[in-house]
Amino acid sequence: MDEKINLLDFNRAALEAFFAANGEKPFRARQLMQWVHQRGVTDFAQMTDMSKSLRGFLAENCRIEHPRILTSQKSADGTRKWLLGVDGSDNAIECVLIPEKTRRTLCVSSQLGCMLNCTFCSTAKQGFNRNLSTAEIIAQLHLVHHSLLAEGEQGVTNVVMMGMGEPLLNFDAVIAAVDVMCDDFGYALSKRRVTISTAGVVPAMERLDEVTDVALAVSLHAPDDRLRNQLVPLNRKYPISELMRACRAYVGEHRSRKITFEYVMLDGVNDSLEHARRLAALIGDIPCKLNLIPFNPYPHAVYRCSEQAAIDHFRDYTSGKGIVTVTRRARGDDIDAACGQLVGSFHDRSRRSAKYQVSLQQIKGVPVAH
Ligand code: SAH
Repeated sequence: MDEKINLLDFNRAALEAFFAANGEKPFRARQLMQWVHQRGVTDFAQMTDMSKSLRGFLAENCRIEHPRILTSQKSADGTRKWLLGVDGSDNAIECVLIPEKTRRTLCVSSQLGCMLNCTFCSTAKQGFNRNLSTAEIIAQLHLVHHSLLAEGEQGVTNVVMMGMGEPLLNFDAVIAAVDVMCDDFGYALSKRRVTISTAGVVPAMERLDEVTDVALAVSLHAPDDRLRNQLVPLNRKYPISELMRACRAYVGEHRSRKITFEYVMLDGVNDSLEHARRLAALIGDIPCKLNLIPFNPYPHAVYRCSEQAAIDHFRDYTSGKGIVTVTRRARGDDIDAACGQLVGSFHDRSRRSAKYQVSLQQIKGVPVAH
């Protein structure tokens, strides 16, 4: 009841409203954001450009609370993964930092688990607990960015919402967190450097266009409804024709916008030249880029990664059709930090984790990896 308000839940507009409601000027919101997000200061007493009485008021009524870092791991290739405790560490989420030459990309989770049950994804096998709050989403960036700065390293330069969960099923909290990522008084990331990845929640894709201008990635994985229904069950609700319509609408008249299509390469399932041909016909006239993701295995996975030659042929075919195609290198797979390997640890409310052995047997025509 008298629980203190976690100010990490607020974007600038919400903070301004909060200060105004408490008789303070809106510029306090900008000051507070600079302290918290840019300087990494979470102790109100240190916010010396605020009056003593305001600092006292904040200390009494507010908090700036992150999840707790439970573990952090570093892969041989430099990829780092953090396990963050939420709900008093009863549950945990994961986020991953992928350092490259000039970029440091943070892969952020949006939900505790996932409801979508894509058949090749290990997060799906864990079931679902709940949406993350804005505070829990932005705290992933706060923690990692300020840890890097404290180590004398360059901070986070890019964010991809490609961790656990479906970001567009947690729309408002994700958008508020994205606001802070892009805010000049927050992390000041350009909108091109923040990517929301979706399995294709069509109505939310339409809403996205109205509220933000971030980069959009769409997990396509199959060129026709029959196969996509199997791999991404959400397709039964929003079939490919509707998804493509939403993609075209998102690109709209924006000259600089492109959709990134993600396509996981599953041996003998979706990786033939015929699949490549149909995919190119499907997306060829949409301003886009194609990311081929070699399937990352995990225990009990029913798929295998495509042969390198199949991936190369696929890439050559779609590139030959004028689609910019990149094969994503698996990063951090030695610490289970690669795509689809983020599982965190949480109580499953969907009871899917118990059911999944059965449901896997119901998937027909899928080769079983040994
Ligand atoms: N729900 C969102 C965000 C997750 S992004 C979405 O579907 O886009 C994670 C990306 O990794 C998605 O493209 C997902 O399909 C892909 N992925 C999931 N499991 C994988 C695996 N085992 N190997 C490779 N990619 C995987």
